[in-house]
Amino acid sequence: MRKPIIAGNWKMFKTIAESVAFVNEVKGKAEVSGVESVLCAPYTNLPALVEAVKGTEIKVGAQNMHWEENGAFTGEISGVMLKDLGVHYVILGHSERRQYFAETDETVNKKTLAAFNYGITPIVCVGEKLEEREAGQTKEVCRVQTEGALKGLSAEQAAQTVIAYEPIWAIGTGKSSTADDANEVIAYIREVVKSLYNEQTAEALRIQYGGSVKPNNVSEYMQQSDIDGALVGGASLEPASYIALVEGA
Ligand code: PGA
Repeated sequence: MRKPIIAGNWKMFKTIAESVAFVNEVKGKAEVSGVESVLCAPYTNLPALVEAVKGTEIKVGAQNMHWEENGAFTGEISGVMLKDLGVHYVILGHSERRQYFAETDETVNKKTLAAFNYGITPIVCVGEKLEEREAGQTKEVCRVQTEGALKGLSAEQAAQTVIAYEPIWAIGTGKSSTADDANEVIAYIREVVKSLYNEQTAEALRIQYGGSVKPNNVSEYMQQSDIDGALVGGASLEPASYIALVEGA
């Protein structure tokens, strides 16, 4: 049985005070047994957030990391630094990072491998652009990105990885993929993992859907056979909405 995982991706939103106030509001509510609840915040908020979630079931994630442990990489943060803070998850290869910050399958792969060196669980994002979908390339794009990200991981590491299938045209647009369509692509990604490893690994690995998930549509996704949770941007920013997402899972 795969444990559903709801992860809020706060992107470049919230001050430290706002993050702590958020946790104080969702404490005890965005904690549903059998559902993993993760808040992925800007680096600056992580220490306060780790402190604020102590004694709760909520976990904290970062939104990126460098693959090297340290070095002359001005402006970067490494896995050892995230581990030092008590961060449990890291989003890697989000489409905004691929689009605006030159993230490639190769850098995502290096980061995914590095995350396991520090006991941090990667949430690896894959997904097609609108023109790729229209050209019928959705599965091919997801296959290439999935294979690229997992390259060199052991079966055990792959089983622990979380993949977020996020069609790029659905992110922040209010246009979500239908639950059936999302499930079909996610089932295909699971097939890709099976062909790379084995059935056991593919059945253990969790795959989220992301892209305009809201409290009113989250349960449609969750009812699907292969969808194991959601990576949520906009609707994760308000406490009441976040609580509803976790309850809806
Ligand atoms: P959205 O963002 O929920 O605002 O569409 C999802 C994401 O970017 O992870």
